[in-house]
Amino acid sequence: MAQTSPGFSTANMDTLANPCVDFYQYACGTWMANNPIPADQSRWGIFDTLADRNRSTLRGILEKAAVEDPKREAVEQKIGDFYASCMDEAAIDKLGTQPLAPELKRISAIQSKEQIVDEVVRLHQHGADVFFSFSSTPDYKNSMQMIAGADQGGLGLPDRDYYLKDDPKSVKLREQYVAHVQKMLELAGEPAAKAATDAQAILLIETELAKGSLDRVSRRDPNKTYHKMPVKDLAALAPGLDWTKFFAASGAPSFTELNVGVPDFFKALNAVLTSTSLADLKVYMTWHLLHSEAPLLAKPFLDENFHYFGQTLTGTTELEPRWKRCVEATDDDLGFALGQKYVEQAFPPAAKARVLGMVQEIETMLGQDIQSLDWMTPATKQQALMKLHAVTNKIGYPDKWRDYSSVKIVRGEAVGNDQRATEFEVRRQLSKIGQRVDRGEWNMTPPTVNAYYSPLQNNINFPAGILQPPFFDNRMDAAVNYGAIGSVMGHELTHGFDDQGRQFDAEGNLRDWWTPEDAKEFEKRAECFIKEYSAFTPLDDVHLNGKLTLGENTADNGGVRLAFRALMQSLNGKPQPKVDGFTPQQRFFLAWGQAWCENVRPEMARMMAQTDPHSPPRDRVNGVLGNMPEFRQAFACHEGQPMVHAPSCRVW
Ligand SMILES: [Zn+2]
Repeated sequence: MAQTSPGFSTANMDTLANPCVDFYQYACGTWMANNPIPADQSRWGIFDTLADRNRSTLRGILEKAAVEDPKREAVEQKIGDFYASCMDEAAIDKLGTQPLAPELKRISAIQSKEQIVDEVVRLHQHGADVFFSFSSTPDYKNSMQMIAGADQGGLGLPDRDYYLKDDPKSVKLREQYVAHVQKMLELAGEPAAKAATDAQAILLIETELAKGSLDRVSRRDPNKTYHKMPVKDLAALAPGLDWTKFFAASGAPSFTELNVGVPDFFKALNAVLTSTSLADLKVYMTWHLLHSEAPLLAKPFLDENFHYFGQTLTGTTELEPRWKRCVEATDDDLGFALGQKYVEQAFPPAAKARVLGMVQEIETMLGQDIQSLDWMTPATKQQALMKLHAVTNKIGYPDKWRDYSSVKIVRGEAVGNDQRATEFEVRRQLSKIGQRVDRGEWNMTPPTVNAYYSPLQNNINFPAGILQPPFFDNRMDAAVNYGAIGSVMGHELTHGFDDQGRQFDAEGNLRDWWTPEDAKEFEKRAECFIKEYSAFTPLDDVHLNGKLTLGENTADNGGVRLAFRALMQSLNGKPQPKVDGFTPQQRFFLAWGQAWCENVRPEMARMMAQTDPHSPPRDRVNGVLGNMPEFRQAFACHEGQPMVHAPSCRVW
């Protein structure tokens, strides 16, 4: 009988395709043909089927918790009443803009530019980062210390480039954006003519902020976003805002120094604040208030928001059913309460132990790899090994659950609940200023289908949500588990040594531990990836940005290689029987391929190419395997075939 799991199956393959010509088609062809994108999604992959399963689990938890019962635990009351309020569409529609009325009134009552600062604080507390962003951040050069950090922000579109590019597609998307902003203002009660002029003014403000913002590629270099300075220096960059008042009103503990991510941005912000009329600044704030609360407002707002941010930007044709959006909203706002319940159901202690064992094997492989490199000198190798040995592994969920007891969740107040939960989180982040970093804390909630490496903490984090089929499945053979979750583990670990991660040391400090000649050798190898991936074209008129995706591509290439070695080591040279007609080596590569089987809408592909540091699935799969001699050998590919890249790029 064929071995299948909810993800991996030889039935997903297109066996008529040639694995040496297009391995992605070979591994995923039948799956792609049989799994069109649902109307409410912008892309659909095996990855998303996992997210979908997790969401169903969460729905079960939330529907149970939503039943009013005096015996509910405190955590169940929070998540249950939050979810029930979000689901109560009739009540939300009946309220219209009423939940926003007090805030809209405050904005309209502002009489002078000096009074703006209080409203900026309030909107930030509600999660609308008007004009700029402000929070706590680890000090890059003293990574155990939390400091204050101000950074670029204040845009409505997904990236600065949306405001600055002049190709016809970008111009069109901007026109549609202005029309959307106008419509939202009209829904809030503005006459059409005024809303039209206001929308233009908002585009102008955001365009000026975009011009002052640093692009995504530059932001990958931590040296370009680290500018620690006294508060008075920020005040000199942007005297148009009373910073002392802003910081005090935000509730942040007092401080004298902060990191200003992009100093030029604050000059641009100052120009906006001084040259824009008070009326336009007010309408800009109104727009961001509407924008940030739109998903929880009455149907006309919801539909208009989806029309632009769903349909126009990502090509999705239908809004997701309400329960899916409410599960996500609960995960966003109370994720470590919901996650606590999720873990009880979906992640037994035995799974945690097995995952940890695999991570440690992969770490051993990276140690061997570093020692065997012919391009690195012993001095840098020693530093690299020190960093590797200092990596800590966090599996599944935090040791200590976040305490939401101070967040008031009231049945029937969808917007109010969201605002209070957001304010709790904003204040929680600010309260860290001046404190030591808590490395036990997680940046992703337990049900999340994702994983991350933190360069400032030198740790890898695997939420329980990704430790499920198709990535991790106790019922599947080792080859499939190493090819899927093993490669993800290797990927996260390799991030510590990609173009960004390598700039941080074992303690997570931004410190150069490379000899100049080793750094040069690294860059030479990274350049190979930049060229290779820049040649990929997810759409006819769109090339991948090899610099934006460099870190992820480095991690993919290193990760799959490390996982493959770990598999070989675990098989220990013993001859292995074929499963479903494939050798363990072949099944390993098929598992990597199938983890990424996906269909995507062209609009979404365009947006991702501009904003996503990850390469699209086809390139993640074919890019890595085309560089690997082990792959060639497993499928008997020969030089000159598309899946045998020349040159073959490799860093780790
Ligand atoms: Zn990554």
